[in-house]
Amino acid sequence: MNGHRTEELVIVGGGLAGASAACILGREGRSVLLLERDVGARHKVCGEFLSVEAQTYLARLGIDLDALGASRISHLRLYHRGKKAEAELPFLARGLSRKILDEALLEKAISHGAQIMRGVTVRSITADERASWVDAGSLGRVRAETLFLASGKHDVRGAKRPISGSINDLIGFKMHYRLSEQQRTALDGAIEVILFDEGYAGLQLIEGGVANLCLVVSQRGFEQAGKSWDSLVNQVTRECPPVADRLRNAIALFERPFSIFQIPYGFVHHPDWTEPGGLFRLGDQMGVIPSFTGEGMSMALHSGYIAASMFLRNGRASTDFHRKMAANVRQQIRLAFLLNKAARFGPGQAVLFHLCRTWPSLMRQVAAFTRIRVGSIHKTAALS
Ligand SMILES: Cc1cc2nc3c(=O)[nH]c(=O)nc-3n(C[C@H](O)[C@H](O)[C@H](O)COP(=O)(O)OP(=O)(O)OC[C@H]3O[C@@H](n4cnc5c(N)ncnc54)[C@H](O)[C@@H]3O)c2cc1C
Repeated sequence: MNGHRTEELVIVGGGLAGASAACILGREGRSVLLLERDVGARHKVCGEFLSVEAQTYLARLGIDLDALGASRISHLRLYHRGKKAEAELPFLARGLSRKILDEALLEKAISHGAQIMRGVTVRSITADERASWVDAGSLGRVRAETLFLASGKHDVRGAKRPISGSINDLIGFKMHYRLSEQQRTALDGAIEVILFDEGYAGLQLIEGGVANLCLVVSQRGFEQAGKSWDSLVNQVTRECPPVADRLRNAIALFERPFSIFQIPYGFVHHPDWTEPGGLFRLGDQMGVIPSFTGEGMSMALHSGYIAASMFLRNGRASTDFHRKMAANVRQQIRLAFLLNKAARFGPGQAVLFHLCRTWPSLMRQVAAFTRIRVGSIHKTAALS
């Protein structure tokens, strides 16, 4: 085909999955072109809760969470209809905004020699056994010998995810708040999870003493609450007076919340015989773990890590990678899917809360079962 450029490795999407793969492949001296549609750093809808596995991957990639100002989170407070259950987390979690984290990882990828092109939206992908063709809008057509698709929740024409069987009537919101010193002290060290009608919310500190309120609600719940962010927050704070205290007179740092629709929780990519080799799906393109367990970022990093590692060892055998990933994450996604269901509806919430209150160690065990094990990587994949 005429009028195109050819690249050895192309990564579509510079979130955690794409950037982590770029770091590893660049570090190994491979020629990597990463295409990211955002022109600069931006906020993403996320609870911004970093599990121990996510922290391990980030440390291996040379990301210093202390230097970035991440908060420390050691316990969980669960609220349901004004009642509280509390437990120590099985690990020290961290809180850091995605705007800071994703940018730090992209900078790291650049320092490892990856070429990052921003403001480039990939419009479509076609793939055959020999290569993938990427329609990169203003950049023109790019022939990629191997393609890593890491566009997160956004599907690209020609490579859409078959998301049947997943839950996708949910809406996610995120807002950051500046709290008073007293409110900050009350929240310090904890993640507060509130179960409310048709949804759940998480409140925690991130860098700079800022609080992140992230909320997942069904479409029906959103409509019942009054179809606006303010009415939804009113509902949550009405049902949970301690969280009302945390947010009283707090200053919202964005004009309106960031939101995301139709999150396909429970999706796992299973390769079939028609799938072309040399197209690796990473992060949310490979599997979407419900956010209740705070493992999505670790899964994204895990996939970037394993894909890069398997590519370095086996070349374009992406089907093997997808099989391995599905085996690695299937159980965790299934359990998180069930928990997500329970956390959404009244009877499930009551059972979940009762179990956690009478048996706090259950919360730790559930957290252990939904965690993505840190993978071993190709031994020549040199990482700091
Ligand atoms: C409500 C909610 C709360 C969550 N809370 C947590 C939490 O607390 N802890 C946790 O670990 N996980 C959480 N997650 C999950 C986590 O946010 C995701 O799993 C993670 O961001 C996936 O990373 P990714 O790299 O696959 O995708 P993303 O981070 O979404 O990155 C994809 C990138 O691709 C770019 N892109 C998209 N389309 C194109 C295109 N066509 N061309 C070029 N670039 C493109 C985007 O701009 C973006 O930068 C949460 C998710 C939701 C929905």
